[in-house]
Amino acid sequence: MNYDVILIRYGELALKGRNRDQFEEALARSVKSVLRSFFKVKVRRNYGRMYVELHGEDAYEVMERLKRVFGISSFSPTIHVEPDLETIKTRALELIRQMDPQPRTFRVVTRRADKRYPTPSMEMNRIVGTHILRALPQIKVDVHEPEAIVNIEIRTEGTYISCETIPGPGGLPVGVSGKVLLLLSGGIDSPVAGWMMLKRGVTLEAIHFHSYPFTSERSLQKVRDLAHKLTKWGGTVRLHVVPFTEIQTAIREKCPEDYLITIMRRFMMRISERVAANTGAKALATGESLGQVASQTLESMDTINKVISIPLLRPLVAMDKIEITDISRKIDTYELSILPYEDCCTVFTPKNPVTRPKAYLAARFEEALDVEALVEAAVEGTVIEEITSKPREESNDLF
Ligand code: ATP
Ligand code: MG
Repeated sequence: MNYDVILIRYGELALKGRNRDQFEEALARSVKSVLRSFFKVKVRRNYGRMYVELHGEDAYEVMERLKRVFGISSFSPTIHVEPDLETIKTRALELIRQMDPQPRTFRVVTRRADKRYPTPSMEMNRIVGTHILRALPQIKVDVHEPEAIVNIEIRTEGTYISCETIPGPGGLPVGVSGKVLLLLSGGIDSPVAGWMMLKRGVTLEAIHFHSYPFTSERSLQKVRDLAHKLTKWGGTVRLHVVPFTEIQTAIREKCPEDYLITIMRRFMMRISERVAANTGAKALATGESLGQVASQTLESMDTINKVISIPLLRPLVAMDKIEITDISRKIDTYELSILPYEDCCTVFTPKNPVTRPKAYLAARFEEALDVEALVEAAVEGTVIEEITSKPREESNDLF
């Protein structure tokens, strides 16, 4: 079947007025940006519906990409027909006939938004339904739980028929919720945290702390590759790469070993807060999950939060490792995340990190350091990279 358009539906019906316009504009932008480099299609909006005009492109390839556009609740490969009863009957039958597997039950749902069309919706359902029943003797009507719904939309801009509805990823279109700065390590959790924030409509930037030469170029490349995976859901992701060696070395020389991780995290927060201010991010996000490791207790979170006033979001806080891992497989970051390159935390892991660090003690230990100068130098030395959704040349040593 040659489809003409993909009909896109979006939920979040509570949105009204200006919010709704913003939502639709952001959604149209996302749809265009995931399709633009690959297909010659046109995206059109009309009264609460969005259409991708295929102009001969393959519907299934286009839909594969739409599965990654947040804000879409479902979509349907659709044909555009003349608003003429005989044509509608014939084409509706054709559509249901080519479904594989053949549905055993169906119903017809007509929406007649264009009231100039003479036949009322109920009448249309009956006429088209009868036509299908006569042509396909093995099929039955089921109005409650049909295996296929033949959707007929009679609108001023055209008449559309579809009988397959594919779920989209839900959520909100990227860009409607402001910007968040994600602390992105090379692990399993933080890319998932980034994906969850994208799902709620944020524009994502990422910050990574790199301790060259203690951590290798390959570990940084892994982080770029993870950010690249996120671009498939969220368009361009700017990656801020922070030189962290000097800070880590200073902490290790001057502070007690059991507080290394706590103090290191406090530095990450201070630097991230400054970078967020420079880039217009309204919040930070991490991949922390309560109780997962020693530095992720409530006391530790409190001690770490104390040094910043920007909101710190932890979308994974109540999730189990298994749930997080499931998502990371689904979003295709898992295989990258488990590559065994050291990150700055693994290099400096103390034997017995404190599980309930006290903020006043952390602050006291930090007196041995010139916190402000160290933070300033790190922010100064930060390099911004634009990670785009274009296919990347993946280096051989990573795969
Ligand atoms: P992840 O799987 O995301 O690495 P984790 O379970 O290993 O998380 P930690 O190493 O304790 O947990 O890190 C907690 C969070 O701190 C990470 O999820 C990430 O958001 C942030 N983080 C840790 N290391 C870095 C780093 N080198 N650069 C940027 N953010 C980091
Ligand atoms: Mg980690």
